[in-house]
Amino acid sequence: MTHPQRLLGPSRGECSGRTASRTPLAREVGGAIDRRVATHTGGCLCEAVRFEVAEPLTRIEVCHCSRCRRSYGVGFAATVYARSAGFSWTRGRDAVTAYDAPLRTSPPAYRHTFCARCGSPLPIVRDDFGFVEIPVGTLDRTPDRPPAYEIFARSKPPWLPASVAGRSFDAAAPRAEHVARELAGKRDR
Ligand SMILES: [Zn+2]
Ligand SMILES: [Zn+2]
Repeated sequence: MTHPQRLLGPSRGECSGRTASRTPLAREVGGAIDRRVATHTGGCLCEAVRFEVAEPLTRIEVCHCSRCRRSYGVGFAATVYARSAGFSWTRGRDAVTAYDAPLRTSPPAYRHTFCARCGSPLPIVRDDFGFVEIPVGTLDRTPDRPPAYEIFARSKPPWLPASVAGRSFDAAAPRAEHVARELAGKRDR
């Protein structure tokens, strides 16, 4: 997120703080939506929770911010986005748990979603913004294209290669808020 907070929240040093842009989505995410599969499926480790999304996915975004590092237990988060209209939980909806971290500057809060039984990260559904953010490791079919870009690269751990994505931003991506609007169906226009 990007959690949505990576797209929309302005807190400093975290997933957030992006500014609006007029750059088309295709350019923003490097050309950039995978339309080859009509419906994507995925789930958690214990398989209590399953989901599907009948929408194109963006290319992968990698975030190195401190909150993603904690919430995913790795050096970074690797996620894709889709419009939330085509997303549904197909099993285990009751086990889907969301945690909103304390605000650092302004809304929306950094949100992490996980399975209450096994703790696996799960997609973060933001119907309020019209998109869902999906950790790539939850997908049954792993995306085969490299990440489009990485954000908060200034927080990248030293054990990672210097470059993990085509483009790198020290903080938030400058145009990602626009990505969210594109995914939401340009409803702001
Ligand atoms: Zn589970
Ligand atoms: Zn992050």
